[in-house]
Amino acid sequence: MRATLNYEIRDFIMEMGGKEAYKCFQCGKCMSTCPWAQIDTVTLPVYRMPQNVKLGISVSSEDKNELAREVEEVFRCVGCEACVSQCPKGVNIPNILRAIRRILGEYGSCPEVLKPVISTLRASGNPLGQPHEKRNEWAKDLEISKFDNQMEFLYFPCCFPCYDTRTQKVAQSTAKVLKKANVLFGILGAEEWCCGEAVRKMGFEKLFTELATSNIIAFQSAGVRKIITTSPHCYNTFKKEYTELLKIPQYTGQQAGEGKDVRPRFEIYHTTQLFDMLIQEGKIIPQKQLNKKVVYHDACNLGRINGIYDEPRKIITSIPGVELIEVPNFSHEYSLCCGGGSGGLWIDWPKEERMANVRVKQAIDAGAEILAVACPYCLQMFEDSVKVMDIELEVKDISELLADALSD
Ligand code: SF4
Ligand code: SF4
Repeated sequence: MRATLNYEIRDFIMEMGGKEAYKCFQCGKCMSTCPWAQIDTVTLPVYRMPQNVKLGISVSSEDKNELAREVEEVFRCVGCEACVSQCPKGVNIPNILRAIRRILGEYGSCPEVLKPVISTLRASGNPLGQPHEKRNEWAKDLEISKFDNQMEFLYFPCCFPCYDTRTQKVAQSTAKVLKKANVLFGILGAEEWCCGEAVRKMGFEKLFTELATSNIIAFQSAGVRKIITTSPHCYNTFKKEYTELLKIPQYTGQQAGEGKDVRPRFEIYHTTQLFDMLIQEGKIIPQKQLNKKVVYHDACNLGRINGIYDEPRKIITSIPGVELIEVPNFSHEYSLCCGGGSGGLWIDWPKEERMANVRVKQAIDAGAEILAVACPYCLQMFEDSVKVMDIELEVKDISELLADALSD
């Protein structure tokens, strides 16, 4: 079928952040590093996407079926940035695709399965559709105080650990570790909202800005200076994307005077960074033996996107008895994405197209008894795969492994 040219859409994509497309010289390296290359039944021509944008033939088809196919391709990207890390020209393909998604979002065009997620988020401030006032239910028996400005850290658990019964154990384990180390921390409960990361990646920029603004105001009003996150997605968003928003004068809290920069600053820590520091300082000592072989899965937003590779591994190896194993060729920056980013968590790809299944098989083949993760999305994606594949593999968050290793 002949491509349909549409320069209006092209210019719109450029305006929305797609200008990087001009840097691409079509070497094809991105295609080989994209996790979809590991799925035998899928061909995703990633390297052609910047070119299609430049030529004005991206999401421009007038044929309904062809357009649906193009939209599906655009939403296959899970934002893992494997392509970015290998591109000789530094092209950020997920940003280009986000620009396309923004335009699709304007016309309400996204995979059907994502539409209820967006409306739920809009209505309840979290993607699970849970009552906002129950945001601190995970902590109800743990005697965790509400954050006040005398505390060093705000703990921001992420929506899934707040509401999802399995993932709540991650937030509870985190609290156990922090309490054991006498860290002065609190939570904001119903005063905080979803960080908005997935919403932005799906192309819904306005909703992201609303959520982010609510959080920034809540952090500022409470006097937050340091934030601990369970999710690498919240971590990256607070660290990089909220910082972009803070450059806008209305979010500065007060007017800058005489060249003085009064923007609020939040120091962001992922739990693995803080846990590692606490172990190094001797504030917690893992003592209970765990005689298991563990593969650690580098989450994209923690490893490749933020360079945090060592801390999670140091925590795991501090647990007596653990043998840490690496997956050959797919470790550290080459880690295979779980498939849960940029909306992937909610898209039910056929079994043979699930990246998480490939990753779980890699861990099993490497000899793992436990697949350790440091991200609520990875936890859910891999636990689903283990069930579907009917195999013996425990999936545990590092906070759970660490909390279990501490004396009572
Ligand atoms: S690796 Fe970079 S330059 Fe090469 S085709 Fe992909 S986006 Fe273009
Ligand atoms: S971000 Fe990941 S999934 Fe998206 S195009 Fe790049 S390598 Fe593929």
